[in-house]
Amino acid sequence: MFNDIESKLNSISEGGSLDRETLAAILSTEDGASKNILYRYADKTRAAHMGDGITLRGIVEFSNVCAGTCVYCGLNRYNTKLKRYDLESERILASVAELAAHKIKTVVLQSGENHTFDGIWFGELISEIKDKFGIRITLSVGEKPYDVIKHWKDKGADRYLLKIETSNKNFYDYLHPGMSFENRLRTLKDLKELGYQVGSGIIVGLFGQTTKMLADDIIFLKENDFDMVAIGPFIPHVNTDCAGHRAGSAEMTLKTLALARVVTKNAHMPSTTALGVIDSETKIKALSSGANVIMVNFTPERVKDLYSIYDGKSAGSGKFSNYSMEKMAAGIKRHIDYSEGDSLKAPGVERVDTIVKR
Ligand code: SF4
Repeated sequence: MFNDIESKLNSISEGGSLDRETLAAILSTEDGASKNILYRYADKTRAAHMGDGITLRGIVEFSNVCAGTCVYCGLNRYNTKLKRYDLESERILASVAELAAHKIKTVVLQSGENHTFDGIWFGELISEIKDKFGIRITLSVGEKPYDVIKHWKDKGADRYLLKIETSNKNFYDYLHPGMSFENRLRTLKDLKELGYQVGSGIIVGLFGQTTKMLADDIIFLKENDFDMVAIGPFIPHVNTDCAGHRAGSAEMTLKTLALARVVTKNAHMPSTTALGVIDSETKIKALSSGANVIMVNFTPERVKDLYSIYDGKSAGSGKFSNYSMEKMAAGIKRHIDYSEGDSLKAPGVERVDTIVKR
């Protein structure tokens, strides 16, 4: 397997055909030397396509109200034990001011799939952030009608995150009862057509998931040429039907992230917060195995624990310090990139503008 994995990665990197058997075999490897080859290969790919900067995104979780039914998520609408909140514009703007003061030039406005703000209010907030701070705005607010996401784009939103979670329709339907795989694909397509920089991603370690399914997911992420790709582990939540299931492994998440880097080359890829919850060392290791982005949480302390998508999410997310972040980066021979961190695929770079359905 030792030489074998390098030749397979060479072939993938040079644009050879992507087949699920090969990708699944790489993901299945348990041999330490082979895994290190994969991680180093991903790191080299990251350096060649993204440079050595670690880009920061400041996240504000402004509402935990959600109409979604995702069985793995503590925000799903059936979790009646969770106290729900909506932040007012002034409080959101205060968090944006805080992250901007730390030289962070992207705010990620994240919420559950809360349809109460689809109207004018949110568009006005986007305009106000743009006018006051001039930073990039990423939305992570779930599936929305075309007119709504068009209005927000017109108001100044730049990017949108909408994870596919799994590209296997049957598995998706099982994990999201009453939700529509087709609607998710439709929304991703609409976002691309409207000119958003679009991010998607998957969860690793869900019960019933196989390495072949993960291989299909990586192919899906490649075929759709997303600007941003997030790969995070499954972590159960005590007040969901998944309580008691085993969490996804840090190692399989790292292998999937590394292979996704080799395949997708120049997508922005975070070392996810969830990875840090499973294992703080793996969160740092992810930055040397393909990842180039860190999300920093600027949600107000008084509601941070209520954005409870999985157990332990806010653990260890203390006050942000530029000095500590820069020191961490220097420790792995990298630096913090304080630029906007736009997609390397847009504009002027040839890109895929439709969603490829598998
Ligand atoms: S994953 Fe998103 S849409 Fe699904 S329940 Fe959680 S917050 Fe809601």
